[in-house]
Amino acid sequence: MTGSLAIAGLGPGGAALVTPEVSAALAEATDVLGYAPYVARVAVRAGLTLHPSDNREELQRAEQGLRLAAEGRRAVIVSSGDPGVFAMAAAVFEMLEAVPRWQELSIRVLPGVTAMLAAAARVGAPLGHDFCAINLSDNLKPWSLIEKRLRLAAEADFAIALYNPRSASRPEGFGRALDLLREAVGGERIVIFAHAVTTPKERIETVLLHDARVEMADMATLVIIGNSATRRVGRFVYAPRRAS
Ligand code: SAH
Repeated sequence: MTGSLAIAGLGPGGAALVTPEVSAALAEATDVLGYAPYVARVAVRAGLTLHPSDNREELQRAEQGLRLAAEGRRAVIVSSGDPGVFAMAAAVFEMLEAVPRWQELSIRVLPGVTAMLAAAARVGAPLGHDFCAINLSDNLKPWSLIEKRLRLAAEADFAIALYNPRSASRPEGFGRALDLLREAVGGERIVIFAHAVTTPKERIETVLLHDARVEMADMATLVIIGNSATRRVGRFVYAPRRAS
């Protein structure tokens, strides 16, 4: 048997947002690996071995997926959202740098709907003009770099999608990010808190930056900070396509 590894995005949670390509890869898989809550989203069936693991074990998981593929298995590593957005695909390529013989394996990255897009679609089109995405977790980078990127993104007037707003290792980080943004752009910006989008626990709040509070976000929340032109139209929020 020729082995393979797919790194697949399961989307933000709702079954309707799992792509047919990802469903097909899961239907053919012999092994599914990933952070336990994501693996729990994959249906159990005969011939499929599930390998749930802890959040922080990305490199070991990547190594295990590559090893299984090298042994002839059809392995799928699952991420939530898109596997290339703050997720497992980069970890697999890091491992490939370390173990060059695995570079010859059949490896595919299967895209998924990332949280930022699902959240944006719920409220309208807040990413309709230039935007950027910043991971607020400081597990893999210094907090000073996060602050620098926030400052420069605000200066460039990007809409900003914030992933991992509440870092377990630095619970005060999000509050500092909000203070920094208020200082940079004032309190009138529209801020969207999108919690558990497309799941039964979905909750969306749209407020102005001066009313944004740390408790409005948790680890299942995607935050979008509007740009200077982001506005409401009826019950929707959008960023106009033109800027001067
Ligand atoms: N690869 C994922 C992101 C992983 S980082 C993707 O592409 O979406 C984990 C962060 O993603 C969470 O802290 C949260 O900010 C965001 N996130 C993931 N699923 C979400 C959902 N259903 N609703 C809101 N935010 C979500």
